[in-house]
Amino acid sequence: MKEISTPEKHTKYIFITGGVLSSLGKGIASASLGLLLKQRGYSVTIMKLDPYINVDPGTMNPFQHGEVYVTDDGAETDLDLGHYERFLGYSLSKKNNHTTGQVYYEVISKERKGHYLGKTVQVIPHITNEIKRRMTTFDGQYDFVIIEIGGTVGDIESLPFLESQRQMWLERGPLNVLNIHLTYVPYIKSAGELKTKPTQHSVKALMEFGIRPDILLCRTEHKLSKDMRQKIGLFCNVEENNVIEVMDVESTIYEVPIMLSKRELDQIVLKRLGLAPNPLDIDGWSKFVNKIKSPKYDVTVALVGKYTKYQDSYKSIVEAFIHAGSINNSKVRIVMVNSEELTEENAAETLKGIDGILVGPGFGNRGIEGKVAAIKHVRENGIPFFGICLGMQCAVIEFARHVCNIEKANSREFDDNEFCVIDLMEEQKNVKEKGGTMRLGAYPCVISKNTQAHKAYSELEISERHRHRYELNNKFRPVLEEHGMVMSGTSPDGSLVEIMELPNHPWFVGVQFHPELKSRAVTGHPLFISFIKAVVKQKNKDL
Ligand code: GLN
Repeated sequence: MKEISTPEKHTKYIFITGGVLSSLGKGIASASLGLLLKQRGYSVTIMKLDPYINVDPGTMNPFQHGEVYVTDDGAETDLDLGHYERFLGYSLSKKNNHTTGQVYYEVISKERKGHYLGKTVQVIPHITNEIKRRMTTFDGQYDFVIIEIGGTVGDIESLPFLESQRQMWLERGPLNVLNIHLTYVPYIKSAGELKTKPTQHSVKALMEFGIRPDILLCRTEHKLSKDMRQKIGLFCNVEENNVIEVMDVESTIYEVPIMLSKRELDQIVLKRLGLAPNPLDIDGWSKFVNKIKSPKYDVTVALVGKYTKYQDSYKSIVEAFIHAGSINNSKVRIVMVNSEELTEENAAETLKGIDGILVGPGFGNRGIEGKVAAIKHVRENGIPFFGICLGMQCAVIEFARHVCNIEKANSREFDDNEFCVIDLMEEQKNVKEKGGTMRLGAYPCVISKNTQAHKAYSELEISERHRHRYELNNKFRPVLEEHGMVMSGTSPDGSLVEIMELPNHPWFVGVQFHPELKSRAVTGHPLFISFIKAVVKQKNKDL
C-alpha cells in the first residue's frame, strides 16, 4: 500500500554518508536498501554524488578509480552505479551520478553567461542550490531517492554536499528526509574489545555540519552486544534500535540485503518515514544467493588484462561471472593474469589448469602482445574464449596475423601501418577533446541466425553499451571471413562489426561492446551465461 496513490509520488529522500574510513561498502549498503524497499513494493532510484573535480571518471585511470561504469545514455559514471543497477535490476541514467566538477562547471558557465549579474557567486547558496537541484531531479517520480554521498565525513571536498543534505532536511522535514551514517567499529586485538570512539567522533563531525543521523550502520568484524549498541546510541544521539550491526558477510555481497533485512533496516526506515511495511518479496533473491553459496561445479577462468593489481578495475566483469556462475550452478574462480607478463613462449604454462579465458577491455599498447599470445593459445587448443572490447580487437589481430597471414596486423591505436585490421572510427577522426567523446552508451545490434551469439541471446535484435574509439576495419572483413571468422552481430546498417566468433571452436566470441555492464543479479547476462555454460561443459566433458 503506497502512502499516496496519485501518479505524482511524494518522494522521500534517504541520505547515506560514510565515516571513519573509506571502503566500508556505502555503495553496497545503498544498493541493498534500494532492493529491500523495491521488494516491498516501492519505487526506488539511487544517486551517487562524487566529491572530485573531474567532470566524470572517464578520464581517470582504472587504478585510480576502478572501472568506469557506462549507462545506456552514454554517461561515464562511478562504479557504484553498477552496484545499484545490479541490485535494483534496472537501468539508471546520467541523472544518477553527479560530481563536484559538474556542479561547478554548471555554476561557472551560468556566471559567465551573466545569470547571476550583480551578485557574488558563492558556495552557499549558489553551489548548494545547484546540488539540491540535482538531488531533486527525480522529485515526484519515485517513492524513494537514495542519495549516497562519496568520500568520508570530515573531508573538505564533500562539505557542500553535506550542507545541501542539511538544507534538504530543513526544507522537507523529518518525515521526508532520513539520514543514514555508515561507520566502522574496530576490534582491538590486544584489548580484546570493540571500540566505539571512532564512530563517536565521526558522528560528532556529522553533527557539526548540522546533520543528525537517524540510523547508524556499524561495520564490524565481531558481534555488537546490546550494551555496545546502547553505548553507541547514547553517545551518538541515536535510538538504540537504530544502531545496526553490519557484520562482514560470509561469501558474497549479495547476502547483504538479506542480512540488513534480518536487522530490520527496511522496516525501521519505513516506520520512521511513516510508510507501510508491505510484505517483503525476497525468495528469488535468496535462491540466487544460495546457489552462489553451494555450487555444484567449480571452474577457473583467467581474466587477462593489465589492470590486474586492482580488482575494481574489472568490477562488472567479476560480478557478471558471479551471476552466470549462480545460473550455471558453478563457482567461477577468477585468476587475474597480467598480460604484460605473457608471451607466446610462456602462455601454455601460465594458462595451465585454466578452463576458459576472458580478455578484458583496456586502452594503450602495454600488454597487447601478451593478450595476442593468450588468444593464440586458446584458439589453437579449443579453450573457451570471451573477448570484450579491446579483447575482441586483440582476437581479430591474432586471427589476422596467424590465420590470414597478415603478419603486421594491428590496431591503429598501437601502430600506423597499412595493416590496421582495427581502425579509428570515422566519427572519431576529428575528435580533439578526451573527455566524454568516445562511442558511448547503448546502441542496437542485429544478430545473425544460427550463431553462438544467437544461441546465447535467443534474440535477433539486442542493445548493448559501448565505450571505444576503434572498430573492426571493414576493408579486412572479406579476408577475415574467407578464413572462417563469422561476424555474428553488426550495427543495424551493417557498417560496424559488433560481434565476431569462430564456429569451429567450443566457444570463441568477441564483442565490441561491454556486456558486463548489463549483467544483473538473479538474471545474469546471456553471453556470460553461455560462456560459463561452455566452460563448465568443457571441464566436465561427460556431462
Ligand atoms: N582502446 C580500445 C578502443 O578505444 C578499446 C576500448 C575498450 O576496451 N573499452 O576502441
